[in-house]
Amino acid sequence: MSQVIYNSLTGKKEKFIPLTENEVKMYLCGPTVYDFLHIGNFRGAITFNLIRNWLESNGHKVTFVYNYTDVDDKIIKRANDEGVDTSVITERFIAEFEKDFNTLGLKPHSFNPRVSEHMHDIVAMVEKIISNGHAYVVDGEVIYDTATFGEYGRLAKRNLDELEAGKRVAVDDKKKRPQDFVLWKPAKPGEPSWDSPWGKGRPGWHIECSAMVKAILGDTIDIHGGGVDLLFPHHENEIAQSEACNCTKYANFWVHNEFINFGAEKMSKSLGNVITARNFMEKYDAEILKYLFLSAHYRTQMSITDDKLLQTISALVRIYSALELAQQTVNEVNDEAVSDAGFDKKLAGFDSKIKKALNDDFNSAELISFVFEAVRTFNALGFANKKKKNATHKGASQIFLEWMKKYGDMSALFNSEPSPMLNRLDEILIEMRNIDKEKVETLVQQRNTAREQKDWTLADTIRVELETIGVELFDGHERGWKVKVNE
Ligand code: AMP
Ligand code: ZN
Repeated sequence: MSQVIYNSLTGKKEKFIPLTENEVKMYLCGPTVYDFLHIGNFRGAITFNLIRNWLESNGHKVTFVYNYTDVDDKIIKRANDEGVDTSVITERFIAEFEKDFNTLGLKPHSFNPRVSEHMHDIVAMVEKIISNGHAYVVDGEVIYDTATFGEYGRLAKRNLDELEAGKRVAVDDKKKRPQDFVLWKPAKPGEPSWDSPWGKGRPGWHIECSAMVKAILGDTIDIHGGGVDLLFPHHENEIAQSEACNCTKYANFWVHNEFINFGAEKMSKSLGNVITARNFMEKYDAEILKYLFLSAHYRTQMSITDDKLLQTISALVRIYSALELAQQTVNEVNDEAVSDAGFDKKLAGFDSKIKKALNDDFNSAELISFVFEAVRTFNALGFANKKKKNATHKGASQIFLEWMKKYGDMSALFNSEPSPMLNRLDEILIEMRNIDKEKVETLVQQRNTAREQKDWTLADTIRVELETIGVELFDGHERGWKVKVNE
C-alpha cells in the first residue's frame, strides 16, 4: 500500500515518492509574527504534525521546516504604533507562538528559520534571478518579470491573459505588468533595512520563503504546504522565483489545507469573529482544538459551531473515560495479564483500516473515526460495571492503552491524564450548557437527605429533575454528579 497525496499542482492524487529514498524534505509557510495567532492559523501546524509523524512511522526521515516571517509591513506598523523596535514585536510574538505551540504539544520542527537571519541568502537569490534574466530593476526596486517565466500561473491554474484581464498597472507603479511582483524594495525612512546591490532595502514577502527553502532544504523539496489562501499569489511566486534561480523543479507536492470558519462566516479581523488559539485553549482546551481539526479532512472547510464543540467534547469524554477505565483496571488487577485474542484481532483490523486512510492523502477524519470505533469495541467488552476485574480485562486494557498511545502520539491527542481531563471537560460542559451548579448541588443534597429518610419517591423525583437539567449522579466524582454526555 503506497502513500498517495493530493497535489495542488496537478489537481490529482498522486503516488508519493520522495526525491531520496526514505527521506522527506518538507516546508510549511509559518506565521507573520506581529500578533497572537488565531485558531485557523494552527490548522496547518496541527495537520502537518500528523503528516510528519505518519511519514516518520513509515520509516522516512523527515526534515520539517516551519518559518517565522519576522520582516513584514504588519510588523513595522505595529512597532511604529507602539513606538518600539520591530525586534521587540517579533521576539514577543515568537515567544507567544511557542507558548501556544507547546500547549498544543506538537512535535518541534527540525528548523524554525527567521527571515532576518537569511538576508544574505535572499540577496544572493535575487541577484541570481536578475542574472538569469527573470527580473528588472527600477529605482532601487527589483521586480520579477512574470512574462519570462512560461510556467507562471500553473499552480493557480490561471494563464497570464486571465491574470492581466481587467487589471491595470497603476500610474506610479514601476511594474511592467500587473502580476509582476517585488523581490526587493527600497526602505522608507524609519523602516528596518539591509544593504544590497540595489541600495538599502528589504525583501518582498514571497522571496523570503524561497530563500529559506533553498538555504535549509536545497533546490528541490518533496512537500511544500500552507493554507489555500497562500496558493496564489504567494506559492505561485515562490515557484517562479525558485525555478528562475535554480533552473530546476521547486517542489514535487503542494499540499494546501482549507480554511476554518466560524458558523457560516469566514474568520476575519474585520468581522470581529477571530478567536485566538490562546483564548480558545483557555476557554476550552488544546485537546478539543486538535480533535476538532483532525476529525475533518484537511482539504475540507470546517465551520466551528457550538454543536460541533459539544459533539467533540462528548467524544473526548467517551475516549478519556475508556482510558481511565483501562488504567484503573491495569492498576487494580494483580494477576499477570492474559491476552484477549478476539479484542487484539479487532484492534489489528482497525490498524489496517487506519493505514489505508492515512496512506490515502492523510485522511485524519477516518483515523479519528476508527479510534472511536476502538473505544466502542473496548467498552463493549463490558467489564466497566464488574466489581472484580480479571486478568483478561487487564490484558485487553494494556493492549488498548498501547494502541491508543500509538495513535495519540501520532496525532498529539489522548496523552493527558484521564481524570483531570474528564474533570476539565465536565467544567467546560457546565459552562457551555449554562448549568446552575448551586442549584444542582442543592438538589443532590436534598436527594441524599431524602434517601437517608427513606423517602424513595422524593429521591426519584429529584433524580428525574437532575436529568432534565442535563446532569447525572456519578459516584466516581468527588462532587457526586457530572454533566450527562450524549451517546
Ligand atoms: P498568515 O500569518 O496570515 O500568513 O497565516 C499563517 C497561516 O495560517 C497560513 O498558512 C494561512 O494560510 C493560514 N490561515 C489563515 N487563516 C486561516 C483560516 N481561517 N483557516 C485555516 N488556515 C488559515
Ligand atoms: Zn511562504
